[in-house]
Amino acid sequence: MQIKGQMLIGSTSVTGSNAPIQAVNPATGELLEPLYAGGGQDEVDQACALAAAAFDTYRETAPEARAAFLEEIADQILALGDDLIVRAMAESGLPRMRLEGERGRTMGQLRMFASVVRSGNYLDVRIDPAMPDRAPLPRADLRLRNIALGPVAVFGASNFPLAFSVGGGDTASALAAGCPVIVKAHSAHPGTSELVGRAIQAAVAKCGMPEGTFSMLFGSGRDVGATLVAHPTIKAVGFTGSRAGGTALMTIAANRSEPIPVYAEMSSINPVFLMPSALAARGEAIAKGFVGSLAMGAGQFCTNPGLVIALEGEGLDNFLQVAATELEAVAAQTMLTPGICDAYGKGVDRLKGHAKVTQVGEGQASTDPNRCQAGLYVTNAADFMDDEELCEEIFGASSLVIRCTDLDEFKAVAESLEGQLTATLHIDEGDYAAARALIPTLERRAGRILCNGFPTGVEVCHAMVHGGPFPATSDARTTSVGSAAINRFLRPVCYQDFPAELMADAIQDSNPLGLRRLMDGNNELA
Ligand code: NAP
Repeated sequence: MQIKGQMLIGSTSVTGSNAPIQAVNPATGELLEPLYAGGGQDEVDQACALAAAAFDTYRETAPEARAAFLEEIADQILALGDDLIVRAMAESGLPRMRLEGERGRTMGQLRMFASVVRSGNYLDVRIDPAMPDRAPLPRADLRLRNIALGPVAVFGASNFPLAFSVGGGDTASALAAGCPVIVKAHSAHPGTSELVGRAIQAAVAKCGMPEGTFSMLFGSGRDVGATLVAHPTIKAVGFTGSRAGGTALMTIAANRSEPIPVYAEMSSINPVFLMPSALAARGEAIAKGFVGSLAMGAGQFCTNPGLVIALEGEGLDNFLQVAATELEAVAAQTMLTPGICDAYGKGVDRLKGHAKVTQVGEGQASTDPNRCQAGLYVTNAADFMDDEELCEEIFGASSLVIRCTDLDEFKAVAESLEGQLTATLHIDEGDYAAARALIPTLERRAGRILCNGFPTGVEVCHAMVHGGPFPATSDARTTSVGSAAINRFLRPVCYQDFPAELMADAIQDSNPLGLRRLMDGNNELA
């Protein structure tokens, strides 16, 4: 499929008239054709008008039709073939294997949401039948089902150009819920975005979905992105990116005359607690696993382990020595964009220049453009808790080790942290008492707590939580990965004393969709 530098508004392709963006190959610094002229208010208005017109039809599509549509998107993305992988490699600097894996994950997510739609459980139907003879007052017939929230604005992520971008998790979960989607494509990978956007556009046509089910706009976030979030048609936002970008969108959404939810995934340093027995028993293996997790993908994962907490002593000294040796073998890797590489360099320079921070080890350096040199640093718990700057995310393969004098300091450090996507415990049986004391704090701080593993590598499944208190996300009650992500784009409606003729299938007595429903408080197939 050819890329033409055009936005997609419903079934049409549109060339913008605002300031253009152009992708850069971060591995070489080379500018990539074509230019993408940005959209503005007119294009936002057109995409929103189509989405508003599509909404009532699209949200009531039969489960099988909507599931087949999600599967068709997966098939269309696969049918793009190697063109997609080659363009994504050029725009992101990510290696082929990683991107092929990400394409598999993208299709897996779409197919998982197809199965969620077919099962119908997300509708959460509850029926409390009428009790006309109840004293002192009769009860009305009450039936609840979830409906789609409305058109959703999705901001693609730079670090997952396939799995969390145009056809990624936010788009898949919003479409599954019955919401039309308007994507503000990430400026770092416009060609990849256009290819995937055209695949979704083709699926809309092939499955006979309403034209406004999907649109995609290019242009600067501060311009077209902000205009989109402020538009009265948009009813929710999905975002993955920086804390500054996410909070800017939260402010716009909150200041609208009708405020809307923003599901922004932003910043997390993912603390890893090395408990004393585990560190003494297998410090070397933990150090090797840790460096593998830290350096994976140049550390450009929201779950990258940016903080390690351990008791001072021989166990920690050994851990640091092994980690430093392992780091020496880590090659410099290309970062996603010059901007991200620049931010990483500034963050690392801040650590290197900090009076209370010592460098433990470094990966290999490179003079090629936009390369990430991995780094490990150490400081004391008291100094860490005294300086807010040390808690800030450095997006890339850098981590800070916190030396604690006793287990009370573990807890104090955990209490001092902002909200996190993950918290990790390395524990043996001898650590269970200490871990038990720490877990309530970790539950308050993080969306996922792991034992004896590393936080990178997020399984897409039903039990996954990829969320957490601010600033990890803007709404700790939800997840952006896994089937529960659909709940972000739904809201409950209760139907009181409705005649059967006006009821949706999901709440009919005859249960034509075969749903598991809460009948008068009892969960049953009825
Ligand atoms: P970003 O700068 O936040 O950009 C993400 C998207 O939001 C882009 O489409 C961008 O538009 C838009 N945007 C940014 N600021 C905006 C604003 N004020 N108003 C409206 N839209 C706005 O993130 P990034 O470029 O992907 O990466 C930059 C930094 O984000 C990294 O260094 C890292 O710290 C963090 N990051 C975190 C995660 C995570 O998973 N937690 C993932 C990726 C990045 P443009 O296209 O115009 O830039």
